[in-house]
Amino acid sequence: MATLGKYKNIALVAHDNRKASMMDWARQHKDKLSKHNIYATGTTGKLLEEALDIKVNRFFSGPLGGDQQIGAKIAEGEIDFLIFFWDPLEQQPHDPDIKALLRIAVVYNIPVASNIASADFLLSSPYFDSEYQTEAVNFDEYLNRSIE
Ligand code: PGA
Repeated sequence: MATLGKYKNIALVAHDNRKASMMDWARQHKDKLSKHNIYATGTTGKLLEEALDIKVNRFFSGPLGGDQQIGAKIAEGEIDFLIFFWDPLEQQPHDPDIKALLRIAVVYNIPVASNIASADFLLSSPYFDSEYQTEAVNFDEYLNRSIE
């Protein structure tokens, strides 16, 4: 078992066409979000700092490797919650990185929200402000799998 602590390390990412939506949503939930540690890709993080007036731990911009940095932190157990408003209507230059980030979030079984409705449901969960036990990835089992 792995534990998502009471105070979560939350990563937020929004593609350009979804940034306004994310900022509106984040402003609405400022009180809840500001109790946790907030991480974000470069531009999303800058906008969140302005919108919420809180410190955001900023990675590189998504197309410059920010999504990959967040993915690596998820694998290392340092980010345990992802709110990723990706753009369903426009191609992104860093499509492979987006796919990789979404994939690694599933591998490590962390909560992911991709739109306002799912983000609202996650934030209103009783687990949001309390500990949550999650299935840990079993590295030994994976490394010892039989390869023909
Ligand atoms: P950005 O990156 O926050 O720097 O815009 C987000 C993305 O496009 O993945």
